[in-house]
Amino acid sequence: MPLRHRLATRLAAAAILALSGPGALSGAALAEPRGVPSDATAIPMPPPEPPQRPPELATPAPVPAEAPRPPERPPELSVPTTSAPAIPASTDSAKAREPEPVKPPEGAEVPAPPPRPADLSAPALALTVAPVDDSACRRRLERLGARFEPLPAITNGQCGAAKPLRVTALADDLALTPPVTLVCSAAESLARWATEAQVAAERDLGQPLKGLTIGTSYECRGQNHDPDAKLSEHSFANGVDVMGFTFASRPAISVLAAPEGTPEATFLAAVRGRACDFFRTVLGPGSDAAHANHLHLDERQRNAGHRLCQ
Ligand SMILES: [Zn+2]
Repeated sequence: MPLRHRLATRLAAAAILALSGPGALSGAALAEPRGVPSDATAIPMPPPEPPQRPPELATPAPVPAEAPRPPERPPELSVPTTSAPAIPASTDSAKAREPEPVKPPEGAEVPAPPPRPADLSAPALALTVAPVDDSACRRRLERLGARFEPLPAITNGQCGAAKPLRVTALADDLALTPPVTLVCSAAESLARWATEAQVAAERDLGQPLKGLTIGTSYECRGQNHDPDAKLSEHSFANGVDVMGFTFASRPAISVLAAPEGTPEATFLAAVRGRACDFFRTVLGPGSDAAHANHLHLDERQRNAGHRLCQ
């Protein structure tokens, strides 16, 4: 077809389109696909409008001008400690996010666990620390010739004594070296026993006692220095360790097993035996290794008044 003829045909087609208007075009465009019924009632309705937004939700909640802020992080927490491992930067694996046990650096001192609390079953604290009227005991102690002075109450965890005394000497200027810290009832027992020890010294050794060498009186500790054991009566100023006896003009006698048949052995056996008349607990050489070199004397309360005299 010559070029001019083709151009004319195109122009004619354009003119027809323009004359028929947009309806002709849209009618052709909206022609329903084949297979769909052309019933007018089947025209889909527009979806229902969503419900109105409730008025209370229409406006956002007012934001306070000053929103509460979390407390400042303490400065000591912002400095990483040397013992804490650095948190790995990578978090792409679950393992990296798990807290790892803190391992102290090589050679570092591992902090010791806190000390085991003293035996909670020890009932003596309440008995000993509870206010007691020891005025009658003190009058007896004076009449026994003891020299003493009251001390302030001792409170040290489960150890302690409400009315301890510092006793420096007993009858006949019998010196206590060093002075003892005892509650009055234990001091009275010591004073009464000492008068019997004086009798034994003059009878068995021919001369009076001048002093008692003391190991321990008040000390907050477990029995036999075992921290896992029940609290010792020393913890309540209710027990005393006698290490030996001193005299004016003869050598001192230590509480050790003396050769059998000697005056020293006789004297030691006598004073030890008499101690059971005044103290509820008497332990010494032969009782156990912890008492091989002293007499442990205390006033521990036991069921049915039982005594431990070994
Ligand atoms: Zn002791």
